[in-house]
Amino acid sequence: ELSIEEVKNEVAARFRLPGEVTLLQPYGNGHINDTFCLTCALGEGKTKRYILQRMNDDIFNSPKELMENVVNVTSFLRKKIIAAGGDPDRETLNVVPAADGGNYLEYKGDFFRMYIFIEGATCFEQVKQPEDFYNSAVSFGNFQKLLADYPADTLHETIVNFHNTVSRFRDFKKAVEEDVCERAENVREEIQFVLDREPDTHVICDALIQKKIPLRVTHNDTKLNNIMIDNETGKGICVIDLDTVMPGSALYDYGDSIRFGANTGAEDEKNLALISLDLELFDIYTKGYLEGCGGSLTKEEIELLPMGAKLMTFECGMRFLADYLKGDVYFKIHKPEHNLDRCRTQFRLVADMESKWEQMNAIVRKYSK
Ligand code: ATP
Ligand code: MG
Ligand code: MG
Repeated sequence: ELSIEEVKNEVAARFRLPGEVTLLQPYGNGHINDTFCLTCALGEGKTKRYILQRMNDDIFNSPKELMENVVNVTSFLRKKIIAAGGDPDRETLNVVPAADGGNYLEYKGDFFRMYIFIEGATCFEQVKQPEDFYNSAVSFGNFQKLLADYPADTLHETIVNFHNTVSRFRDFKKAVEEDVCERAENVREEIQFVLDREPDTHVICDALIQKKIPLRVTHNDTKLNNIMIDNETGKGICVIDLDTVMPGSALYDYGDSIRFGANTGAEDEKNLALISLDLELFDIYTKGYLEGCGGSLTKEEIELLPMGAKLMTFECGMRFLADYLKGDVYFKIHKPEHNLDRCRTQFRLVADMESKWEQMNAIVRKYSK
């Protein structure tokens, strides 16, 4: 464990800063990286703030590739924002280089990176009102729009096959066959639920391979608290937390947002009667996302939005079930059968989407004119 003094005097000091670091303290509510805010003295009483992060090396084992993705995407965004007359220090993350010119640095086996602090904006932890969910939809849609002409195939796939539902299905079947904890017998119904939907697992993967839909830059962690909301206007100004930026499909980001944001119940709710797709929230997110995308999605992608929502939910449930079968080795559990509870909510949500399929498609059509 590094002391805060060491982070201030040894780590922060190794970045290209315009003055002396006068204050450094832990910051924010992130769960993945260790985040610090630091203040730098510019002279004449002026100061400038920065974000310093110790990157989580359990989850991300290739900081070099990860940071290349971040730097390439944010430099691209910066140019676009300048061209549009926006404020590039507030509307995108900006990586501050290390003194040796690198875009991150290693100190005693830990990896650190620095960003310009986005002033005058707040990130909200939870959706409190539908408006919040709408705001995040517009922001992530806008992120997609700004990156619509980015060559997504040049990005590193830092987590290989992250949303490759076909390979996830293969992993799932292997977990069932191996059945290392002899749990399969208890969950025949859930296993059958997955097997019955095998044809669905190909839909997005095939569309990508056959180039029916484009490969895009995906964010892969589209939570409300990964958006900075302007304190004056209440509107989203910047998408942050780009650790999982990768090549993929726009349907992944949209679909995962619906999965966790438009469920009427909690992800581990035991009472499945409380689980359903909230069509009002589905409507609001779809409206915001398509507005934010501003015409950058293709007709084929838009038609597949309901499928994106269903498949991301299905894939997540399948991963929970596979992890239950493997003995809870990937997702942290807080009680016995936690992964089983989680898989059941996801499958209930999938089933509910199937029963509301026509309504979901009608909502998408309403906003795609
Ligand atoms: P998560 O748990 O969402 O994965 P994380 O550990 O990856 O979080 P970040 O989301 O990158 O961490 O940052 C944590 C928090 O720090 C953010 O929620 C935000 O409050 C703040 N933050 C991050 N970057 C900036 C920035 N450039 N300017 C201002 N605040 C920032
Ligand atoms: Mg975050
Ligand atoms: Mg994160």
